[in-house]
Amino acid sequence: MMTIYGVVGYPVEHSLSPVMHNAAFKALDMDCAYHKFEVKGEHLQDAILGARHLGFGGLNVTIPHKEAAIRIIEPDRTALEIGAANTLDFRQMKAFNTDAAGAIDALRDSGVELDNKGVLVLGAGGAARAVVYGLAKAGATVTIANRTTAKAADLAAYMRSFGSVFGTSLDSLGEKVRAVDVIINTTPVGMGWEDKPMVTRDMLDRSQTVFDLVYKPLETPLLREARAAGARTVDGLSMLARQGARSFEIWTGVKPPVDIMERSARDAL
Ligand code: NAP
Repeated sequence: MMTIYGVVGYPVEHSLSPVMHNAAFKALDMDCAYHKFEVKGEHLQDAILGARHLGFGGLNVTIPHKEAAIRIIEPDRTALEIGAANTLDFRQMKAFNTDAAGAIDALRDSGVELDNKGVLVLGAGGAARAVVYGLAKAGATVTIANRTTAKAADLAAYMRSFGSVFGTSLDSLGEKVRAVDVIINTTPVGMGWEDKPMVTRDMLDRSQTVFDLVYKPLETPLLREARAAGARTVDGLSMLARQGARSFEIWTGVKPPVDIMERSARDAL
């Protein structure tokens, strides 16, 4: 019988996950299908447990349910430490977080080493939690710069259990950018057509890498600045495909063709 997977979120209409996972199932000739399900917070538990009892293989969980998911399905250590899950596996009845590893995979696959490197993370929200955790565990020295400085300080204080992490404001950003090897945007800045990048070409050089989690548009104003400065760029779709590939492997035990997943998402954009 066909095994069903899916993503629950609110809203979820524009999710690229169905395209990516269905492309991988097709490439591997697996009798599986992946759908998107719009679920409000008050129905999350019913939806997750219902999917499990209907025999689904697993679910991805996206905004705004990633934190709530670990109160419904027992998290593994990584999801517990991050405080959020994006992957539920009904075979193991466990919740996982593949965002952290997906971000690190995207950097490593672009040739970026992280051990003993300085990384500046812009933003201190949900995505930053996973990214900072992954970076800290990979041995980077991480500075979190956030509009609300107290949130950067709080997140840094928590993440210091896992590595070298500091919190700061967005003041004097040029100096902070020049002091690091890698700059990562985890804020939604860049999604709006009129958004001005916080980091500009004059702050960057060829030795640096700029990674933007925003993938719509694919080349954000920040990545355009980075390209103009000759810096290496990593886009948000690279991470999206890799977190998806890790979910796929958790569910099926099979390493999917990440290039096919990534290409299908790029085509769909
Ligand atoms: P979130 O929890 O709402 O956090 C947003 C963060 O951005 C906060 O730190 C907020 O600062 C900051 N921020 C928002 N608007 C800002 C502005 N105009 N100027 C400066 N800082 C601003 O959101 P999230 O869940 O972390 O998601 C953030 C982005 O990452 C979204 O665009 C999402 O699509 C993307 N994302 C991509 C992937 C991927 O696989 N590529 C995965 C996850 C998320 P304050 O604390 O001051 O409010």
